Amino acid sequence: MKNTTLCYIEQNGQYLMMHRVKKVGDCNRDKWIGIGGHLEEYESPYDCILREAKEETGLTLTDCAYRGLVSFCSPNYETEQMHLFFAHTFEGSLREDCEEGDLQWISREHLMDLPMWEGDRIFLNLLPQDVPFFLLKLVYDADGNLISHDLHFTGEAREPLLISACLLGSPCRYDGKTKPLSETVLQDLSARYTLIPVCAEILGGLPTPRIPAEIQPDGRVRRQDGEDVTDAYLRGANEVCRYADITDAKTAILKARSPSCGMGTVYDGSFTATLCKNSGVTARMLTEHGIRVLTEAQLSSLLPDESR
Ligand code: SF4
Repeated sequence: MKNTTLCYIEQNGQYLMMHRVKKVGDCNRDKWIGIGGHLEEYESPYDCILREAKEETGLTLTDCAYRGLVSFCSPNYETEQMHLFFAHTFEGSLREDCEEGDLQWISREHLMDLPMWEGDRIFLNLLPQDVPFFLLKLVYDADGNLISHDLHFTGEAREPLLISACLLGSPCRYDGKTKPLSETVLQDLSARYTLIPVCAEILGGLPTPRIPAEIQPDGRVRRQDGEDVTDAYLRGANEVCRYADITDAKTAILKARSPSCGMGTVYDGSFTATLCKNSGVTARMLTEHGIRVLTEAQLSSLLPDESR
């Protein structure tokens, strides 16, 4: 079994990706991946990723979190244990003569459009999330198709719970603000569940801040200035459903009344703070996906009496 490392370097919403187009016989030929390579003799995974990052990019990583262990199984190759890292700070300048491929900063919303191994999309979705160290087994067939994946979070076995990122304190609302739950509730939730923060509007590629949007009587989502943003809302909802599949989450706590996250009640499309019976695009899609969706007002069923 061979041991390798892989690191994704993220800065200002962009990931440093390598387009593997230079090496003859490269098993990753034409795909986009992060930075990394084989462990050399007497190297730890951490030694290896620092060396590989320096060699391939010219950058010295100054913070590098060990996030997961990924096992690749394929009839075509020796089984590989890949140590996965995520880095945000570095020193130095990017080299332009990497022998392995072409380096390019790619914005997060365009990452999934790149040709890559299907299993890479699973851990790329997990990296920006506040999830525990994970073990991921990926099984490919001889044609390079992903035929199964098995994901486990380490530590105490806690049920995964999707949660609107703005309820966790992320400033991702349309006005750049947040709506965090109380400290007590957050502590109780994180003691019982592995919280998977998701913001469908960000995942759909919308900026923050952004012009507010509401679901219209014809079912489309339009901004206050009339622009139709339904496609971005649907894209984000699909991404959240993908997170549910990847993490095997069965329940989601979503922010009430939002055109994405609202469950049962949302604003009526007139931008006059008038409510109507309907659900946000993500809440509806998750429900159709078999996920139980609750709003923050319905947390009581998930928490002990004293923190409700
Ligand atoms: S889409 Fe959901 S998580 Fe994102 S800001 Fe709106 S309510 Fe919060």
